[in-house]
Amino acid sequence: MPKSDDPNHAALISAAQRAMHNAYAPYSNFQVGAAILAEDGNIYAGCNVENAAYPVGCCAEASAISAMVMSGQTSIAAIAVVGAGDELCTPCGGCRQRIREFSSESTPILVCDQNGLRHETTLGELLPLSFGPDNLQP
Ligand SMILES: [Zn+2]
Repeated sequence: MPKSDDPNHAALISAAQRAMHNAYAPYSNFQVGAAILAEDGNIYAGCNVENAAYPVGCCAEASAISAMVMSGQTSIAAIAVVGAGDELCTPCGGCRQRIREFSSESTPILVCDQNGLRHETTLGELLPLSFGPDNLQP
């Protein structure tokens, strides 16, 4: 059930929707966009980039994380993911762990399509009892 009324989230969802159009997905034809609101207030977007050697492809969330880190940011305030279809386009298992590296259990994850927000959840709900950077602290 959509619930986000955070004004920052509208811009975040729009950025993810725009990113989706740049996806390179000639094999699956399943385009995905993602956008991260970082702690610096900027938005970093990414799209999926497939490859003829399938496992080499890259998810939209991973692309957005790379853009964020490249800009010197390492903290995700919220992330939006946009995909088509009847099923919710939630981050895959690998991306849940990638997001975990730069967020907390309460970090909002906005699951969207081209019409907007479909479901709002948190990283803690998608990846409970997760392993993260704190596990490696002395
Ligand atoms: Zn993924």
